[in-house]
Amino acid sequence: MPHFYGGEISAPSRLLPIAFVFTFALFAGACSDGDSSAGLAKDVPSAFEGYVNKYRDLLAAYNKNSGGLSKNDWGKNHYCKAGLAEGRKYPGLSAASCKSSGGGSSSGSSGGGTFTKTDYQFVYKKNAAQFGGRTVRWASKTINVSGITNPSWQAAIRKWPVVSFKFGSNKGIVFAGYSNEYPESCGWAQPMWRSNGKLAQCIIKLNTAVNSMSCHSIELVLQHEVGHCLGIMGHTNDGGLMDPRCCSSTITTAVRKGLALLYSLPPGTDIRSRVRAKTGSAMHNKSKTVRDDLFDPSGKRMIYGPVIATQARQ
Ligand SMILES: [Zn+2]
Repeated sequence: MPHFYGGEISAPSRLLPIAFVFTFALFAGACSDGDSSAGLAKDVPSAFEGYVNKYRDLLAAYNKNSGGLSKNDWGKNHYCKAGLAEGRKYPGLSAASCKSSGGGSSSGSSGGGTFTKTDYQFVYKKNAAQFGGRTVRWASKTINVSGITNPSWQAAIRKWPVVSFKFGSNKGIVFAGYSNEYPESCGWAQPMWRSNGKLAQCIIKLNTAVNSMSCHSIELVLQHEVGHCLGIMGHTNDGGLMDPRCCSSTITTAVRKGLALLYSLPPGTDIRSRVRAKTGSAMHNKSKTVRDDLFDPSGKRMIYGPVIATQARQ
């Protein structure tokens, strides 16, 4: 398995992300047009929304990647995780504003009920944008994992909602051991899927030096990498498990609901119409070309996704 990873995969994996970035950039441009005119304009902004609006860099960061969060939730995460310590201020906000309820994982429900446009946008940005607007997921919600026998590693992986895992087989999500290929990264994952949108394999590696880097626990890094292998092919910015610097243990509501939505749709579902901004149709027509090049209902071709690397904390 390791020689397969190092040899055959590396060449195509360098090529595909270029197309993906291109597609995503088009979407992001169209989407931000849509956001500025969408709903809620009449509401009085909350203090956390006001906080985001006050600082240009925060507003830009939020508009670039909200991680599926409302401006209020994003602002709260930022203020409590970083802004407060950085000395940023907004009327009505203080350390006390961060003490209530922890923000994030809701009780029992793992995204049941109806899905919102925000959920579709999350699935588009973190998943379908990698495949021209179609969803990429495992065919079954019971997913094989090989190479992991340590019970506490297995327990960490089992914390993922929506799906379940079968350990011990030789397919599916593959822990392929340790490597120093990406010296700055705690770990990394590379999903591969068939041209019908069904994930076929996902390789996870950990940094040889993972224990001496600021990577939190191996359990959390593995849980995070498995998140990429479930189809979350990007990072969030919400203080949760899927943030790029590894990691808090919280699986945030955005991630939970996004995963639930992804696995409620058949692999290869075209979700572009669910996220399309009215003003962006000309741009979306371009990304259609990408989709048609990649999608094939027979699933004959293997598509190598991006290598998604997870950084140590700074
Ligand atoms: Zn990552």
